[in-house]
Amino acid sequence: MTTSPETAPVGTTRSGRPRVVVIGSGFGGLFAAQALRKAPVEITLVAKTSHHLFQPLLYQVATGILSEGEIAPPTREVLRTQRNARVVLGEVTAIDLAARTVTSTILGRTTVHPYDELIVAAGAGQSYFGNDRFAEFAPGMKSVDDALELRGRIFGAFELAELATDPAEIDRLLTFVVVGAGPTGVEMAGQIAELAHRTLRRDFRTIDTTQARVILLDAAPAVLPSFGEKLGDRARRQLNKIGVEVQLGAMVTDVDANGIEVKDGDGQVRRISAATKIWAAGVQASPLGRQLAEQSGAEVDRAGRISVQPDLTLPGHPEVHVVGDMMSLDRLPGVAQVAIQGGRYAADAIVRRLEGREPKGPFRYKDKGSMATISRFSAVADVGKLKMEGFLAWMMWLVVHLAYIVGFKSRLTAVLHWIVSFLGRGRAERVATQQQVYGRLALEQLGADFAVSKSGGPKDGRHSTEDLTERRSA
Ligand SMILES: Cc1cc2nc3c(=O)[nH]c(=O)nc-3n(C[C@H](O)[C@H](O)[C@H](O)COP(=O)(O)OP(=O)(O)OC[C@H]3O[C@@H](n4cnc5c(N)ncnc54)[C@H](O)[C@@H]3O)c2cc1C
Repeated sequence: MTTSPETAPVGTTRSGRPRVVVIGSGFGGLFAAQALRKAPVEITLVAKTSHHLFQPLLYQVATGILSEGEIAPPTREVLRTQRNARVVLGEVTAIDLAARTVTSTILGRTTVHPYDELIVAAGAGQSYFGNDRFAEFAPGMKSVDDALELRGRIFGAFELAELATDPAEIDRLLTFVVVGAGPTGVEMAGQIAELAHRTLRRDFRTIDTTQARVILLDAAPAVLPSFGEKLGDRARRQLNKIGVEVQLGAMVTDVDANGIEVKDGDGQVRRISAATKIWAAGVQASPLGRQLAEQSGAEVDRAGRISVQPDLTLPGHPEVHVVGDMMSLDRLPGVAQVAIQGGRYAADAIVRRLEGREPKGPFRYKDKGSMATISRFSAVADVGKLKMEGFLAWMMWLVVHLAYIVGFKSRLTAVLHWIVSFLGRGRAERVATQQQVYGRLALEQLGADFAVSKSGGPKDGRHSTEDLTERRSA
């Protein structure tokens, strides 16, 4: 069925309420939509996944502690009782600032969403610093797909090692390299070490999993540089204690199926033979940032983040708010709290405008601190003047993460899974399927035609356009 867009004067819908389009169901988008719960607006939240994703716990899905459902509740369910919000699945391919429309596509169906206020919170993807070919061999950690693929690769490597007879091949299979010594890399390396030394120790008959090598490497000279030297050093010592080899000043120059090539600070190039490589270094903001920059004259930095005004809007477009990982302002970090507070600030600005009130003043970020776990019962925390490590920091990490997991059911089952993994030795979510491991490569091999049918609309150029906001209010 082809429907044509219905029209209504900009500024209102047929219900008389302004249209707010939110792009993204991550921290920025979801919290913005929720903050508009009581506002007299019609919200359309468009996202390319049907779930909200709690990215900080992706590493626990990859290492079998949590299920993907616990960190990725359906956005539709989260917003079920919010009557002024509707959720639309689709990848936003175009934003037209002059026409005030957002175009999204899904499985060949294209939809145009007119807006009166727009909140863009499309986040960031993985960056391989210009070496995208590394992605085939060293998956990143940005999505549920990534975490499940990594789970398959990690547990699969132990399985293949159990079958192998050549000692060199066993070593290759039992070598895990994590690239990037920021919080994600540290947490991932720590958990793989726990798997090898604790969880899987008694599960295999031929191999000794405690002989596995877990290498955490980074071109920078420090672990967790954003936590400062003292906590970084403590984290490094803690990692060494649980069996992680930390290699700093080591720049990755090549990655292939069998290993990784690294250039050290002294210029020497060496090769590490490793079946499993994990990329936890570098981010690239959503390409929607460039589109917005071209139309508004705002600048884009090397990581693709778009510069925003102090009130998180675009120059000349007070109706367009950009929040979270894809925006750049005062060197704010790409963390969940920046996105959450930015989303809420944008929602507040919209409500103030609707009520004819003065704007609140520039966006002020309240830094609530950073934390990273190293292993069970051990973490580092940098909260204001408080620099903590060990069990206390880990307890703090536990409470904070539990508070931000969306939904009571997910919190409850997450706690049960943590009991299984941290008090016991088990991992409740060790299922790994072939599709998890090979699905991404198979999809890529389907080629450009598949990508077009998936997200680019019909190849003959005909688009079915439908104004969902208008349909809803009709
Ligand atoms: C592995 C990992 C661990 C992390 N750990 C921490 C941590 O411990 N503490 C911390 O504070 N922060 C952490 N972060 C960072 C934090 O998760 C991000 O800063 C935060 O998610 C940013 O929120 P956002 O809304 O800007 O983007 P996201 O949460 O990434 O959401 C982006 C949304 O936009 C959607 N989207 C993207 N492109 C399109 C498109 N074209 N069309 C439609 N929808 C689109 C996506 O589907 C998604 O719903 C971590 C990040 C990762 C990847």
